[in-house]
Amino acid sequence: MRNQTNILLIYTGGTIGMVKDYDSGTLKPFNFKKLLKNIPELAQLDCSIESVSFKKPIDSSNMNPKYWVELATIIEKHYESYDGFVVLHGSDTMSYTASAMSFMLENLSKPVIFTGSQLPIGDLRTDAKENLITSIQIAALRENNKPVIQEVGLYFEYKLYRANRTTKINAEHFEAFASLNYPALAESGVHLKVNEAYLNRSKRTKKFCVHKKLDNNVAVLKIFPGLNKSLLSSILDTEGLKAVVLETYGAGNAPTDEWFLQALDRAIKNGLHIVNVTQCSGGGVSMGQYETSERLEKMQIINGKDITTEAAITKLMYLLGSGVSSKLLKTIFETSLRGEMS
Ligand code: ASP
Repeated sequence: MRNQTNILLIYTGGTIGMVKDYDSGTLKPFNFKKLLKNIPELAQLDCSIESVSFKKPIDSSNMNPKYWVELATIIEKHYESYDGFVVLHGSDTMSYTASAMSFMLENLSKPVIFTGSQLPIGDLRTDAKENLITSIQIAALRENNKPVIQEVGLYFEYKLYRANRTTKINAEHFEAFASLNYPALAESGVHLKVNEAYLNRSKRTKKFCVHKKLDNNVAVLKIFPGLNKSLLSSILDTEGLKAVVLETYGAGNAPTDEWFLQALDRAIKNGLHIVNVTQCSGGGVSMGQYETSERLEKMQIINGKDITTEAAITKLMYLLGSGVSSKLLKTIFETSLRGEMS
């Protein structure tokens, strides 16, 4: 008989890990040792839970690639000893961290589930308990002695999503995340329903490997009516800049002004990688459909298809950090590596 499933809970910070000090009324990060005390329901779960915390838990607005490496290193260090990982993270930048993790952890064959909450765990109306308990249950799910989820997921308000497909869409509702271009991997109702057909399954023969080199010489540029020439050139001419995620309109459309197109063309010829992603929350880029994207296609702008901005920027950091050659970057970017694009 198999021993209990071992889950490692990794606390990075964020609202979820705070409890109200009823004397002072302030929110304080909770002590992990007291976790079971705060959520006695965890004892009912049929798995063993251990936890590790960032030395100094942070609000996720302070997240950066240095912390992503710290997180990936924790998972790497404990990869063999645990069956699944649950990462507690502030919701503000959770989609960025979770997308980054999906690229950094290659050939993952165990679940890494991100979750957080809109209200602290000690709050009367908290969403933290459900999010945490169900995330642990999902991370512990097994079938034929193998984990059901073998990828980086994000669980929030009754839905498990592929992490690199998510975006934070609401600062108020408990339903804070959406994955508009890919269906939920699992839904929690009376039963926990897993949508098997949408899961990523690792090829067992390939060895798990952690990529820790990330290059942050990247930028996101959201176009808007009235964007001026000097702003555009100051961004494109930024020293050391290697890649830009260009957020365009609708199906990947942009102004046809000569100065605009020539600035992009010149930057690409000078070696800058530009990825076309849409500003829309759902759908994707379809270059050449309109006259307003025809020239972009001709100048060899990278087609971001239906990737999110969060996944696009982290994929660039990962590819540039891995030393992918300039020649190959376009082809590799346009290939789905972790199910991040259709
Ligand atoms: N500001 C918090 C954070 O992202 C919000 C949250 O946890 O939901 O860390």
